[in-house]
Amino acid sequence: MLDTMYHSYMLIDGEQVQALSGRVDVIYNPASQEPVGEVPVGSRQDARLALQAARRAFPAWSETSCQKRAEILHEAADLVRERTDRIARLLTQEQGKPLKNARAEVRSSADMLDYYAEEGKRNFGEWMASGQSRSIVLKQPVGVAALITPWNFPVDLLAWKVAPALAAGCTFVAKPPSKAPIAATEFVKTLIDAGLPPGAANVVHGPGSEVGAELVQSPISRKIAFTGETKTGRWIMAHAAGQIKRISLELGGQSPFIVCQDADLEKAASACTQRAFSNMGQICISVNRIYAAEEIADQFTAKLLEHTQRLRIGNGLEPDVDLGPMFSEAQREKTREHVADALAKGASLLCGGREPEGRAFEKGFFYLPTVLDNVDHSMRIMREETFGPVAPIMRFKTLEEAIALANDTEFGLAAYLFTRDLKTAIFASERLEAGGIGVNVNNVVDIQAPFGGWKQSGIGRELGHDGLEAYLETKHIRLGFEM
Ligand code: NDP
Repeated sequence: MLDTMYHSYMLIDGEQVQALSGRVDVIYNPASQEPVGEVPVGSRQDARLALQAARRAFPAWSETSCQKRAEILHEAADLVRERTDRIARLLTQEQGKPLKNARAEVRSSADMLDYYAEEGKRNFGEWMASGQSRSIVLKQPVGVAALITPWNFPVDLLAWKVAPALAAGCTFVAKPPSKAPIAATEFVKTLIDAGLPPGAANVVHGPGSEVGAELVQSPISRKIAFTGETKTGRWIMAHAAGQIKRISLELGGQSPFIVCQDADLEKAASACTQRAFSNMGQICISVNRIYAAEEIADQFTAKLLEHTQRLRIGNGLEPDVDLGPMFSEAQREKTREHVADALAKGASLLCGGREPEGRAFEKGFFYLPTVLDNVDHSMRIMREETFGPVAPIMRFKTLEEAIALANDTEFGLAAYLFTRDLKTAIFASERLEAGGIGVNVNNVVDIQAPFGGWKQSGIGRELGHDGLEAYLETKHIRLGFEM
């Protein structure tokens, strides 16, 4: 716990402000349920003030040179790096993740600012000659962007939006998750401290159903960039439709991990453990369903268990901890329900399946990393996003069967495949229905490559040049010069 209670704020028009109503909410540490800090609870009215500030700031920022924008983004990246320890500690306390992971998240958000500072300079457009006319194709900033983010990576996922929005020349209003808003606000403050003009970056706190809804429904916002649950994404899509708003939606996942007969089992088991349990499985690209070739399934399962049992769980502020608590009791309860449903339908519990014992775990939302065997697609764990630390294993006979099982879902965010055979890698990668395919790796996030989902996992792409394009509109200027 911090020595003193942390007092957070909203950022509107370059100022640190409280809610017009004066309401505040207390944020609690999910590892101990101790209070971490207080945050203002804004309303639709606060959101409107922020949107108006962003609209006022837009003309000047959109006409600022890309070099000047880059200077400010680089300066902010330096400030984020200087403040990493402070922001990371706040992040661990409000979200639960181990400090080493919180530091990595904050550093990655600084990298995002640096990357888009430069990518913003590569907004090229086109020039086409045709007889007595010329066509100039411009890419111009879309306008005020509303950026709405979830609690699992509250700093990084906001940086994925903030950096390209500003680099493109947009101004924004961000709405961080209500229960983990502190570190994200500190991240945005670095931009203001780096010299961003007032109103270009705004942060409003408050319930998604009110503040988030205002950002979506207001005629001022021209673009909605959202990461969160599929059901919230559906709501946003429906409500953005009235004004045909530009939307990017990064939604839920249910990622398969296929282990072929010829895979390096040690590497596959280690990669699978990390991606299934990191951040307590509360990652949209977590491994949710494991399909192991029947010839190697026992061997792979034994290795997976070995790696899982080495993981150390505890308060994220303690040194050498691999896993913290889950974010909330609701997340833990959903995990319990999915495990109970699988066991009732015939799955075998190989490890975990309960809370850890001991005084250190009494107050937090802890749950042991869990491995299940003999699962099938009748179980909720194989059909719904658990967002918890569970690795369920199912065996397959042929690669075609594994691909069909992997695609048997409404989601399509990430899919993983471990094999040593190039033909298998290409055959499967081309047939898996997902926006990101990891072959012999357990991560499909790369700052320079597009990230996003197929099917009900979303629309649009973040990261890479596509991430910048998401904040740009295309304009064709046709120039005739025959007098
Ligand atoms: P939610 O959809 O509940 O919330 C996400 C954000 O949306 C929060 O800031 C929330 O505010 C806000 N919100 C809620 N209702 C509305 C609304 N009607 N209008 C506008 N904004 C609203 O998701 P979670 O926070 O529970 O995050 C977990 C989910 O995020 C998982 O399903 C996960 O798969 C997904 N996710 C997807 C990723 C991807 O890239 N595809 C990456 C990471 C997570 P408030 O906090 O006040 O409720």
